[in-house]
Amino acid sequence: MERLQKVIAHAGVASRRAAEKLIQAGRVEVNDQIVTELGIQVKQSDQIKVDGMPLKKEPLVYFLLNKPRGVISSAHDEKGRKTVVDIFKEAGIEERIYPIGRLDYDTTGLLLLTNDGDLTNQLMHPKFEVDKVYVAKVKGRVSNEALKTLRTGVKIDGRLTAQAKAKVVSVSDDRKHSIVRLTIHEGHYHQVKKMLKAVGNPVVKLHREEYAGLTLAGLPSAGQWRKLRPNEVKALK
Ligand code: URA
Repeated sequence: MERLQKVIAHAGVASRRAAEKLIQAGRVEVNDQIVTELGIQVKQSDQIKVDGMPLKKEPLVYFLLNKPRGVISSAHDEKGRKTVVDIFKEAGIEERIYPIGRLDYDTTGLLLLTNDGDLTNQLMHPKFEVDKVYVAKVKGRVSNEALKTLRTGVKIDGRLTAQAKAKVVSVSDDRKHSIVRLTIHEGHYHQVKKMLKAVGNPVVKLHREEYAGLTLAGLPSAGQWRKLRPNEVKALK
């Protein structure tokens, strides 16, 4: 959902201020109803007309990125650091895309980017329980007790995490590190790092290998990306 004047402004019809004037003058329709109130929220699927002409919409685009380390998962960074959107701008992608959810600055792996606000809202809504598969290199050996806690619920920030899948993939020869695969459907801030720290195995490295059934197959290197295929987009909706 976005404010009507913002949507009009982004369609290149007018500045935000001028879009407000168009609305107040009764020149804007949403789903064939004239709207004169400022600030109403519209969905991507709403039909907007200005002076009876449908607003030109950007085509909806969907990308899958193998996010490198040291890149911010947002469209802008006030500190001027490189963002995931910069990767696409450098490749000549012109649509105003943004990431669906976030990965930390130092986390690598699967990130979706789109300009489809409706799909973003859907995938981010807790009720859809989108599965996210993470592989973490952690300190120490992960005890059976820790695995059980990860699976049934870890107390972080005063609440219990939802049920998850957790498995030890390997242990280093010197036993100082382990690789753990964790599947969660929640997406709280630093969730995986907090969960593993809480069971006594702080994360050294974190990578996301799956999101909503999509994998990084064919994109083995950080920084590689591709468009989603139409059938993949359909399966997400
Ligand atoms: N959990 C984290 O702690 N970091 C991420 O980047 C993603 C999930």
